[in-house]
Amino acid sequence: MKILLAEDDFDLATGIRVALQTQGMEVVWVRRIEEALRVLDTEGCDLILLDLGLPDGDGLSVLEQLRRDGARLPVLILSARDGLDDRLKGLDTGADDYMVKPFVLAELLSRVRALARRSYGGDGATFEVRGLWLHEPTQRVRVREMPVSLSRSEFKLLCLLVKRADRVVARRALEQLVLPNGQSQNSNVLDVHISNLRRKIGEGYIRTVRGIGYVIYQTAHTPPEAA
Ligand code: CA
Repeated sequence: MKILLAEDDFDLATGIRVALQTQGMEVVWVRRIEEALRVLDTEGCDLILLDLGLPDGDGLSVLEQLRRDGARLPVLILSARDGLDDRLKGLDTGADDYMVKPFVLAELLSRVRALARRSYGGDGATFEVRGLWLHEPTQRVRVREMPVSLSRSEFKLLCLLVKRADRVVARRALEQLVLPNGQSQNSNVLDVHISNLRRKIGEGYIRTVRGIGYVIYQTAHTPPEAA
């Protein structure tokens, strides 16, 4: 997931950038409208964090141009302007969310995740968790922008875990995806697939919940019940 951060306040931008990067997101940081438009033209991004008071003008002009061009990517406005009129103007122009400075970084992260989920899930076929990206129709998977090649069974397992992120998926539900009918549920087929998946997508995504099943968390925390 690649985020364009248009913000001219050095300290704030640094804080935001570090926080997003620890969530596995790629951040392109610009300070001026002109640079933001160039990034959008040349490389694109998945989501924009947009300050309104930029040195070369009003950040809203970036948003206006985007929406005029028909681009639907999510835009979250970061602004010191907290008047209702300003917020309404931002939302009317096509912003998806609006945060008034100063804000708590944890809240920004949570709103970014919500927007990303909505956007990636918008076609009902694409899912993203902490830099792990999955497209169901094509069975394509990328981890931090690197393509990963999975077997059909591995893809099915990962897809279910990602779709149910933050909820523990029972072994039995996962086994039904990969075991031919009638095969013993005591077999270790599932464990072999999970171990192959972990090797391919990297440790840190699939957590074992002993005696119950597996879970992928939206955030990198490790609850006490998981190992
Ligand atoms: Ca500013």
